[in-house]
Amino acid sequence: MSTRVKQDYDVIVVGGGAAGYFAAITCSEHHPGLRVGILERGAKVLSKVSISGGGRCNVTHACFDPAELVEFYPRGKRELLGPFHAWSPVDTIDWFERRGVALKTEADGRIFPVSDRSESIVSCLSETASESGVQLRTGVSVERFVATERGFELLVANESRLTCRRLLLALGGLKEGKLTQCLRGLGHTIEALAPALFTFHIDDALLRGLAGLSVEQVGLTVDGKDVRTEGPLLVTHWGVSGPAVLKLSSFGARWMRALDYRFSMSVNWTRAMSEASVVRVLESQRSAQPRKRIHGTPLFGIPRRLWERLVSTATSASDQNWSQLSNADLRSLSQGLTDCRLTVKGKSMNKDEFVTCGGVRLSEVQFKTMESKKQSGLHFAGEVLDVDALTGGFNFQAAWTTGFLAGRAMATSLNR
Ligand SMILES: Cc1cc2nc3c(=O)[nH]c(=O)nc-3n(C[C@H](O)[C@H](O)[C@H](O)COP(=O)(O)OP(=O)(O)OC[C@H]3O[C@@H](n4cnc5c(N)ncnc54)[C@H](O)[C@@H]3O)c2cc1C
Repeated sequence: MSTRVKQDYDVIVVGGGAAGYFAAITCSEHHPGLRVGILERGAKVLSKVSISGGGRCNVTHACFDPAELVEFYPRGKRELLGPFHAWSPVDTIDWFERRGVALKTEADGRIFPVSDRSESIVSCLSETASESGVQLRTGVSVERFVATERGFELLVANESRLTCRRLLLALGGLKEGKLTQCLRGLGHTIEALAPALFTFHIDDALLRGLAGLSVEQVGLTVDGKDVRTEGPLLVTHWGVSGPAVLKLSSFGARWMRALDYRFSMSVNWTRAMSEASVVRVLESQRSAQPRKRIHGTPLFGIPRRLWERLVSTATSASDQNWSQLSNADLRSLSQGLTDCRLTVKGKSMNKDEFVTCGGVRLSEVQFKTMESKKQSGLHFAGEVLDVDALTGGFNFQAAWTTGFLAGRAMATSLNR
């Protein structure tokens, strides 16, 4: 490393995203006068906040019981329980509203700025950081760091060196490189990295030509995997998307990657009904409306075009009346409705929100302070950790919570 010392800080936050900003602001506000700097490799800060939520920024979720909230985190569920008691969605709402950003809650619990513009959140964070004295440097990519007697020494891309007493890594979704090597050098484990929140590629005659059609509530399972998701499903040009699919992609992020995104999925088109209950519904329909055409009387909230396909696939005669439905066809239809096999052959990232599953192993981090258990003075916040959530504002909530805890802990430790 070069011996030139360009600048010294009390606290360096690497990463000008949601977690880094929240931590830097919290640190400066808890301990005015500290030299807190954010180093961001990009030309712009808070770029994910800008594009988040389709440009509206789904800032958090109206789920106020920490025990309920953690259920939305396939990774981080156990570790985030304590942190959510310390900084919850209520605190996030209060924080932004006290700084003049009015928020609204949509019917499904997602919380957005009333302006419907992510820029409201970006400006609030930028202005608050600047008012609290946080120093920002963009275009500065941190390549490596080492622990020293007095703190840390960072090597940035232009070969200069920066020093600080406390270091926060808020790098977002990790990629293998020099920084992961540094972390491993300190004894940290990086949990396998994989994308989460993606849609499935399926090429099946059942769905061909149905792009745009949505089913209100389906159940999805995968053989041999202990996972079941429910929710709306959307047929796309290349396969399926929608909340039930995104949820499955999140819970299955690791093993789906191991399977190269090729596996067989079972769809229950009747919400969560058992095959026996579906048989009973079909039998009573056959008795109640024997002269009606099966194609013309879709059941279970299934859209008509999909219903016709499901009926034609499962039964021998097409376009028959309910009275003509044989017991064998009725059973075959109930099976096709509750255990419809589709082969997934690949994935596409969900353009509205995606995250990285994997990152710094959670058992190696002290969740009261977000400090490393391997290296004193080193903290983590946000997606760099092996924490990620379903869509709905939960990923940002994890960034605000862990950012707050790290910022407060760094301020407190330097106050002593
Ligand atoms: C399209 C999209 C939409 C989304 N919408 C939502 C939403 O509405 N609600 C929600 O809850 N979540 C949403 N998310 C997820 C959310 O954006 C992330 O979970 C969140 O941004 C994580 O914050 P972070 O600060 O940990 O990481 P990031 O926001 O990724 O910030 C990390 C920063 O660190 C910088 N950096 C990395 N390495 C270095 C280095 N070596 N040196 C210097 N700087 C470095 C990066 O350039 C980046 O600016 C969305 C994600 C995407 C991709």
